Amino acid sequence: MRLPEWIKIRHKHSELHGLKSLLRDYGLSTVCEEARCPNKSECFSKPTATFMILGSCCTRNCGFCSVESAAPLPPDKDEPLKVALAAKEMGLKYVVVTSVTRDDLEDGGAQHFAKTVTAIKKHLPYAKVEVLTPDFKGDFSALKTVLDSKPDVFNHNVETVPRLYPAVRPQADYPRSLRLLRQAKEISPTVNTKSGLMLGLGEDYDEVLDVMTDLREADCDFLTIGQYLRPSRENLPVKEYVHPEVFERLREAALGMGFKFVASSPLVRSSMNAEEMYGVANVSV
Ligand code: SF4
Repeated sequence: MRLPEWIKIRHKHSELHGLKSLLRDYGLSTVCEEARCPNKSECFSKPTATFMILGSCCTRNCGFCSVESAAPLPPDKDEPLKVALAAKEMGLKYVVVTSVTRDDLEDGGAQHFAKTVTAIKKHLPYAKVEVLTPDFKGDFSALKTVLDSKPDVFNHNVETVPRLYPAVRPQADYPRSLRLLRQAKEISPTVNTKSGLMLGLGEDYDEVLDVMTDLREADCDFLTIGQYLRPSRENLPVKEYVHPEVFERLREAALGMGFKFVASSPLVRSSMNAEEMYGVANVSV
């Protein structure tokens, strides 16, 4: 399917070059590169970045995702400090930390997440930290470990409507993901919770509204909605390029449901403009 005219991807290679070499020096990766994000040049020009910890091989194989599915290496013990120092050198004001899913680790990588948040807060005390986590197979104590490190935003994406989970997130479970978000707020009532959805995988409009309702029932604060773009021929095909007007209708509906901030347009990605989202929703901070 050809890209519609409303999906325009701009590249600013000069800004990318310096950051890439800095990340290489620290031996780190960003999800922006691993997941072939269409906005990476735009995001890399802002004081925010999304670090992908716990390696670049995933124990799951979601149909939409280009991250390699293979047996991962043991976690790098120095990675939390490396992320903190790289974030400091980059002068970041808002740091997003995400990971592949590590079903091979007993705690799903929760302690590694917590150590990374702690290291960032120590070396960059004024930066806000968002964690974008896997579902930890619904393990409450793993979730608590992450939240005890006091991230400012807890993000976990439901990605799509429950009917499409077998193809889109075959090893995930929709009620489990909702429960994770609800429990995050119960464990840490002051944390901002966030989730995201992709459109264009074959979902119906009303199904998206139902997911938004479920997220609000789980007390989710922030929502991102973007167009699914097929990262490679091995991934699920795009069923539809959803018109920007539909994104806008969903944004208005979501705000009407009580989300504190909603980013909804074709090129929105989970971590995009995360700093702005946090700032708008926490104006007194
Ligand atoms: S769990 Fe995350 S990183 Fe792993 S395949 Fe799915 S979306 Fe990609």
